[in-house]
Amino acid sequence: MAFCPDCGTRNADNARFCTTCGRQLADVAEARAAMDPPVGTHRTDRDGRMIADDGLPVGQDLDGEPGGERLLWKGRPSKLFSPIRSLTNRYKLTNERLVIERGFVGRRTEEIDLYRVNDVAVKQNPGERVYGMGDILIETTDTTAPDWSLLNVRDPDRVKDLIREAARAERQRRRVLLRDEV
Ligand SMILES: [Zn+2]
Repeated sequence: MAFCPDCGTRNADNARFCTTCGRQLADVAEARAAMDPPVGTHRTDRDGRMIADDGLPVGQDLDGEPGGERLLWKGRPSKLFSPIRSLTNRYKLTNERLVIERGFVGRRTEEIDLYRVNDVAVKQNPGERVYGMGDILIETTDTTAPDWSLLNVRDPDRVKDLIREAARAERQRRRVLLRDEV
């Protein structure tokens, strides 16, 4: 089966165009072959804490390294849904910030401090749902740049939860730091 990335319609494996919306399907087989296997359900430890990509619970501070920055997740737009952006955009989530890189040459890097993250949501169209992809929409308390998005990332619900949990842990850490300074 070749699911249409735009509308989610099931097409025959050898179909060249989607029977519902007419999208070309030439890239689908190639993208499916190159795709990582789905991560599936969220990984948690015995206490129910979410596990980040480095194998540790999201909120865990590194021993002996106060403020040491951990890489919790990294990703990029799906080649199937964003062929160009998949080459140019990179996303990184640490325990302190979300980093968005764009462009080939003269890369532009933008950073969101996690303690400013107000809300995180997932947006999926039917095609994205079939492939386990989606956009992450982030709202921050930064009035100059309140809205951000990560486009067509794999396992969007997990990424959303990682960002939420990391933001919660970071706000907690900063509160403790502020309290200790008083
Ligand atoms: Zn279609």
